[in-house]
Amino acid sequence: MIAVRQPGRVIDTAALMSRVIGACRDAVGSEEARLCDLDRAIGDGDHGTNMRRGLEALAAEREQLAAMPLAEAMIAAGTILVMTIGGAAGPLYGTLLLEIGKGLSTGRVEFPQVFQQAVAAVAQRGRSSPGEKTLLDVLVPLSDELIKHTDMRRLAEKIQGFAEMTIDMKALRGRASFLGERSVGHMDPGAASCALLATTACRELTEAGLA
Ligand code: ADP
Ligand code: MG
Repeated sequence: MIAVRQPGRVIDTAALMSRVIGACRDAVGSEEARLCDLDRAIGDGDHGTNMRRGLEALAAEREQLAAMPLAEAMIAAGTILVMTIGGAAGPLYGTLLLEIGKGLSTGRVEFPQVFQQAVAAVAQRGRSSPGEKTLLDVLVPLSDELIKHTDMRRLAEKIQGFAEMTIDMKALRGRASFLGERSVGHMDPGAASCALLATTACRELTEAGLA
């Protein structure tokens, strides 16, 4: 893993990756019950457990992941998430990281563009678009903000609002879509986990001085 030079300092990206994974594991661990409650309201109640399992598997491998080049680490992390989260969300979170890894491995260095393409791949995989009450309702606006180079600290404050926008939406994809109008009035669990992970990652990057 390379060291990134910021003016006046060198950032150890291996240590940073390990810290981001650890912080995400802790965040999902402490929000597991809330994520399950959200999924119980409009799904089958397992989303928190699925996410905790995935993040624990990732955290168990974090030293090995941190030792890899970033693109390779993203591909390996995506593979772990596909195999361990399960459910509908596992392949979608897995696709996100796999596609980020693939984008970075082509030598592209503009992360916002790489992220945008990875989000498009998630949409294709889920045959879904924003407005359908899924994790894409967080990923797409998040990607738009990254393209605009929104300050990371401000972005961290906005992300929860993206998940809250799903409360008034009617679910058109996944289990929640079986409820039709009755899905309105509840936050989408996938949007909630996505907001939690993105906020946690933004905070860690800000604290590391990368933003
Ligand atoms: P399952 O629905 O199989 O129990 P989870 O509970 O882990 O899986 O994940 C549910 C979340 O997955 C939903 O809240 C939603 O955000 C996301 N999801 C489900 N289906 C789709 C889809 N087709 N496209 C995008 N996101 C989806
Ligand atoms: Mg579920």
